Amino acid sequence: MRLDKAPRIELVNGSAILRWGDEAIVIPKLRHGVLFLMSGYIGSQLWGCEYRLSLDYLRGRVVNEKVISGLLEHSRQLGVREEGFGLEIGWNPVVINRGEEGVYFFNEKMRNWIGYADFTKPFIQEASLVMVRNNVPILGLPDLIINVDGEPTYVIELKTTDNPRNVRVVRGRESFQAESYYHMLTYLGFKPKGVAIIKVVRGAGFRIIDNLDIITRHMDEPEGAVVLTKNVVLHRVRVKPFDEFMRDVDYALEYWLGLRNPRPNPSPGLCSTCDHRRSCPFAVVR
Ligand code: SF4
Repeated sequence: MRLDKAPRIELVNGSAILRWGDEAIVIPKLRHGVLFLMSGYIGSQLWGCEYRLSLDYLRGRVVNEKVISGLLEHSRQLGVREEGFGLEIGWNPVVINRGEEGVYFFNEKMRNWIGYADFTKPFIQEASLVMVRNNVPILGLPDLIINVDGEPTYVIELKTTDNPRNVRVVRGRESFQAESYYHMLTYLGFKPKGVAIIKVVRGAGFRIIDNLDIITRHMDEPEGAVVLTKNVVLHRVRVKPFDEFMRDVDYALEYWLGLRNPRPNPSPGLCSTCDHRRSCPFAVVR
């Protein structure tokens, strides 16, 4: 594992190889033909519905106006360009981490490899983090890292919503996703100090990128929620020990390695917003 060289994925005679410095890691065959995992999947597997994730790969997932407006708000909040989403309204196949598209996506993300970042700048948007477990690459894309004294110090994850009630709630899968970036930074040799999720109602008169001083001031306080302004809440996330995090990663990997079937987790909250509820045998809401 090297910071000065970003890892890359290559397809060679039908096998996927992760090249990282002098190492060439043969990626095992994973379910649905994926080549790497997104760190956010693990939280969805443990606290969302893993069966839904498997159906996403088998049948596709729905992109609607809300998804698009969420991506646009993300770009506005973080001051990044929104071009290149490549999504169309309706059912879309999941190609982000499969086949040639997956290789392209992973390698393109390495332009923002954390090892190439300039930590003397106040912040870094959408840096790329990678960890490897059981020869499986896991890609993490934190929305924002705030640097303090030349070190990546605080991880900020943004979640947008169109319902003001949602800004007060953080779900287990969201916490895990944000926390995973903390642990991935630690794995790569950094010493981050804190993680937070900022929940924003789309169109709120507040922009994260313009309020980093206020956000940073709250990051050293104990875990919990702070209302930054109307419809914008910062939730500091409790970070569990690294070995507990790795136990969760290992459980999630068992599915991708084909060692167990996907676990359904039906509930009114999850099923009512699931694209597959009409065909899923476990659905409790149609
Ligand atoms: S309908 Fe419910 S149980 Fe079925 S995949 Fe969706 S969330 Fe899971």
